[in-house]
Amino acid sequence: MKNITILGATGSIGDSTLAVLDLHPDKFQIFALSANTNWQKMLDLCQKYQPKIVVMRDEKSAEKLQNGLKNSSKNSSKKSANNTQILAGKQALNDIAAAAETDFVMAAIVGAAGMESGLAAAQAGKRVLLANKESLVLAGDLFINAVRENNAELIPVDSEHSAIFQCLSGRSGLSKIQLTASGGPFLHTRLEKLQNVSVAEAINHPNWSMGRKISVDSATMMNKGLEVIEAHYLFGLAARQIEVVIHPQSILHSSVYFADGSTISQLGRADMRSAIAYALAYPQRMDSGVAALDLAEASPLEFYPPDLDKFACLRLAFAALEQGGNACAALNAANEVAVDGFLNGKIGFLDIAKIIEKTLEKMPNLPVDNLQNILENDQKSRQIALELLQKL
Ligand code: NAD
Ligand code: MG
Repeated sequence: MKNITILGATGSIGDSTLAVLDLHPDKFQIFALSANTNWQKMLDLCQKYQPKIVVMRDEKSAEKLQNGLKNSSKNSSKKSANNTQILAGKQALNDIAAAAETDFVMAAIVGAAGMESGLAAAQAGKRVLLANKESLVLAGDLFINAVRENNAELIPVDSEHSAIFQCLSGRSGLSKIQLTASGGPFLHTRLEKLQNVSVAEAINHPNWSMGRKISVDSATMMNKGLEVIEAHYLFGLAARQIEVVIHPQSILHSSVYFADGSTISQLGRADMRSAIAYALAYPQRMDSGVAALDLAEASPLEFYPPDLDKFACLRLAFAALEQGGNACAALNAANEVAVDGFLNGKIGFLDIAKIIEKTLEKMPNLPVDNLQNILENDQKSRQIALELLQKL
């Protein structure tokens, strides 16, 4: 029996993870869950899964959850004693990631906010199931070193990286990898029309159902940019060994190209439960609840190169990776600020890339090598991006 902590249990990846775990009560049990502020959803999860510990982001939501649990046990006819301990804050989050009682940690918080708890799990030598790509973009070297030094296991959950990981296992002679990108909702929208697209249009992904931030990232193709950087750290590849190809059907999840001219790709339906089940069961496989692919039904499968003028965010991510130092972290911070601004109606869609580009120009390029300067660099980049956003 493996004990699991899910960081970001109330989100889209959290939902899919719980759905896979529901199929295997004999193999896994939940040790701890965390969420931002959605205490109502967490109340339901507590009743269903009886975790030992729950961590909310702040005291206020922790208190509401505590009261909700008290009331529900009062009102319930069968005395379901809920012994869940409810905590709040960053330290508690790091503690459930590193706790001796947990074997596996699903890192599924969105954004830079997920970095420190994922790192804590790596430092504690856990199997880290990594959905939170931003933590590698922000602190790749630190994270990868922590995995190595502490004998942690880092298993990618991002579908493209899971695909590469599956294609690579036990094989040598790699020459390059190729990440597929759906192209998002605006693949066929003309550049001139993009500035005025609405939030609803931007988060309406054609193939995947995901949280709001990653949905906007998919529409700008920054998601693919973050994934290029994620792949650099996960697989130790140079930027020139990482390619992106547009594949609107999201059936072929990514490919590895070998020295002998062979290519191995991983295919499946666009459903994150497959990659999550793989990361949980690795090196075995188990049921994920996802139906097998029907290739005849899925065809035709199309592939073409991305338009880097229209999807400037992808170009900026490649440039940041080439530049090195703090550039990727600055790109990530500016993206989070700009996407938040777009979701709140403060800026137009094309302003996202403009804010990121200008932030990168204004940030001095410095090496980042420890947690403190990573966090300072993140804050400074956010400030610059916010000032740019307010001037627009
Ligand atoms: P989401 O918005 O649906 O869920 C985010 C989760 O993080 C929620 O549980 C929320 O409560 C928690 N959270 C948010 N801000 C927080 C904060 N400041 N402190 C603590 N907790 C906080 O997002 P998602 O779509 O599930 O994505 C999660 C991560 O997985 C992201 O890094 C995303 O890039 C990655 N990912 C998602 C998918 C997908 O299909 N959804 C696919 C690949 C990778
Ligand atoms: Mg992905």
